[in-house]
Amino acid sequence: MTGPDTLQRRGLMFILSSPSGAGKTTIARRLLAEDGDIRLSVSVTTRPMRPGEVDGQDYIFVSQSEFDRMVAEEHFLEWAHVFGHCYGTPKAQVKAGLREGHDFLFDIDWQGTQQLYQKLETDVVRVFLLPPSIEELRRRLTGRGTDPADVIQARMDRARAEISHWDGYDYVVVNDDIDLCFEKVTQILAAERMSRARQTGLIGFVRGLTGPGG
Ligand code: ADP
Ligand code: 5GP
Repeated sequence: MTGPDTLQRRGLMFILSSPSGAGKTTIARRLLAEDGDIRLSVSVTTRPMRPGEVDGQDYIFVSQSEFDRMVAEEHFLEWAHVFGHCYGTPKAQVKAGLREGHDFLFDIDWQGTQQLYQKLETDVVRVFLLPPSIEELRRRLTGRGTDPADVIQARMDRARAEISHWDGYDYVVVNDDIDLCFEKVTQILAAERMSRARQTGLIGFVRGLTGPGG
């Protein structure tokens, strides 16, 4: 049953992007653990699995030929080449989920963000995380311990280009203190959930307030 606290609403697409190493995976994991109303849009990728990653949970890991087949069969809302590998957002789960009022979290880059915005502008909320400094970004990439030195250098080289896309986002948050950053991100999500256009149950509710006997 829906009441004033659970008015029907359309789901939203919450996009978190950042230069690699700035902390979006950390923020994304915490959001998914602490907010029961948002689920991850699991991307498909051709890159090899990292230690600790789970197939079907962090990504759906596929071969290049499988990915090419999915592109040809229009499985993706968007897809892009990143660091020599392909990444794509599957269509089916998200489209149905939004109608049912589910929110989706996207950990995708600026190219994917632009494509999703062009297709589904009113459903999209774009959040960009920045590192507090370039030195700290290098420290985080090195400290993460998941990539060899040449990959870290490639990610650093790309970071400036990624940062230059900051103005394609609705919100920009500097990830200095992790707890503060998380709090800001959850505040953005809470506010966007209350936007009038998304609250499809409002019309009936307000009618009840203003109608006979109201
Ligand atoms: P991304 O997903 O953007 O590539 P990660 O979330 O993997 O980045 O973060 C990169 C590394 O930096 C991880 O080891 C993570 O624990 C660490 N990290 C993330 N946010 C902070 C922060 N605010 N302060 C210190 N370390 C952080
Ligand atoms: P990583 O290999 O570190 O997990 O991700 C590398 C980059 O690919 C990150 O910037 C991440 O946001 C991006 N990415 C992950 N999934 C997708 C996707 O489905 N589409 C696009 N466009 N980018 C993605």
